[in-house]
Amino acid sequence: EIVVATSQKSESQKPGPQKAGADTSALPDSGIAASGSRASGTPAAARPRAAARAGGEAMPDGAATAAATLAPAYAEAEPAPAAALAASEEREDLSAPLDPRFTFENFVVGKPNELAFAAARRVADASAVTFNPLFLYGGVGLGKTHLMHAIAWHIRRKDPSRRVIYLSAEKFMYQFIRALRFKDTMAFKEQFRSVDVLMIDDVQFISGKDSTQEEFFHTFNALVDQNRQVIISADKSPSDLEGMEERLRSRLGWGLVADIHPTTYELRLGILQQKADQMGAKIPQKVLEFLAHKITSNVRELEGALNRIVAHAELVGRAITLESTQEVLHDLLRASNRRVTIEEIQKKVAEHFNIRLSDMSSARRARAVARPRQVAMYLAKQLTQRSLPEIGRKFGDRDHTTVMHAVRKVEELCGTDPAFAEDVELLRRMLEG
Ligand code: ADP
Ligand code: MG
Repeated sequence: EIVVATSQKSESQKPGPQKAGADTSALPDSGIAASGSRASGTPAAARPRAAARAGGEAMPDGAATAAATLAPAYAEAEPAPAAALAASEEREDLSAPLDPRFTFENFVVGKPNELAFAAARRVADASAVTFNPLFLYGGVGLGKTHLMHAIAWHIRRKDPSRRVIYLSAEKFMYQFIRALRFKDTMAFKEQFRSVDVLMIDDVQFISGKDSTQEEFFHTFNALVDQNRQVIISADKSPSDLEGMEERLRSRLGWGLVADIHPTTYELRLGILQQKADQMGAKIPQKVLEFLAHKITSNVRELEGALNRIVAHAELVGRAITLESTQEVLHDLLRASNRRVTIEEIQKKVAEHFNIRLSDMSSARRARAVARPRQVAMYLAKQLTQRSLPEIGRKFGDRDHTTVMHAVRKVEELCGTDPAFAEDVELLRRMLEG
């Protein structure tokens, strides 16, 4: 049973992993969305999965408020049976709901996240505690929460008797403060210390929050001492967590620390392809490649962009093209365009091909310098807003037709010579940073 130190009754439905884009409202209740389910007090089978994610963040103070926060529409339509309400008041909600889309199956693995993924799988698969704690860290929107939910789903499916609690550090703090306020810390401790797997997401949140940290530290120690699995995520490595007590930082690093690196072009493209498939949307490969090039910040942004172009195409009833994509994502693309200068491009390209910077503007026509120069012109056209004549001027006062020729030449070569194309791609990525 996953979590939910609250709902003891195991529900018969088995949601299993769901592909993104599936009609989530039709999903059977998982029993995981404890706060939502108990709060609204409706029989699980009858209740649509109302905003599972929103439900997780809401912290019901009582069934009524929770019902109102979580699923107003359903809460009113279906009065809660008294028994369910009573049961819900007995215990505190511990776990947050899990997103049905956040499964291992839906996680695209690439170089930047392969270690974190392998570690997550290992911990999820292991019947005995392996790495304790497993500490996942990385920047925002790179898949930490996704992996944590995937672990929880997996364990739940494999062994429903294991009790898995997943919650954000913020919610942990909230629960703790609430327990203090209601002088109920014994129950709080007992609940947290009697789980099989404890997952705390975004632990950096309790940096600087001394008493919560203290409580967390004791909970953590108690669980590890009892050989229960603890899984933590954060935006930084344990040693970089400022505002965290030294003893806690050091203990957090005792198990396996796995980081998720920023995405690469390949990973972004893979993720886009998967999401497009899941949405059943017809998106030209060119558009996916364009997005993978342009939206480099994180996966969440990437998904957002994809959703937008799909929604737009559906609304206006037109096919998705490169042009429409640029139009729809106008604002986003402008924001994500780091301003690269022609000088930077020349410098990087010269370094890369090992030629002198001065040769970018020199009259030399030997292939060894002419080709890199063309690449630089091509990249200048791609990555800056400069016109052809402007670019020509920066390359030793060349004519705009020379630049145009360079652009065509590079495009042509990219089509016929994969090694060359890779070179250009690499340069582009380095410049786009
Ligand atoms: P974090 O918790 O690190 O901020 P999330 O786990 O919330 O990031 O991920 C943000 C979004 O990106 C989620 O919708 C998630 O499903 C998606 N995502 C991130 N990494 C991947 C991946 N490797 N494959 C598929 N989806 C991913
Ligand atoms: Mg997260």
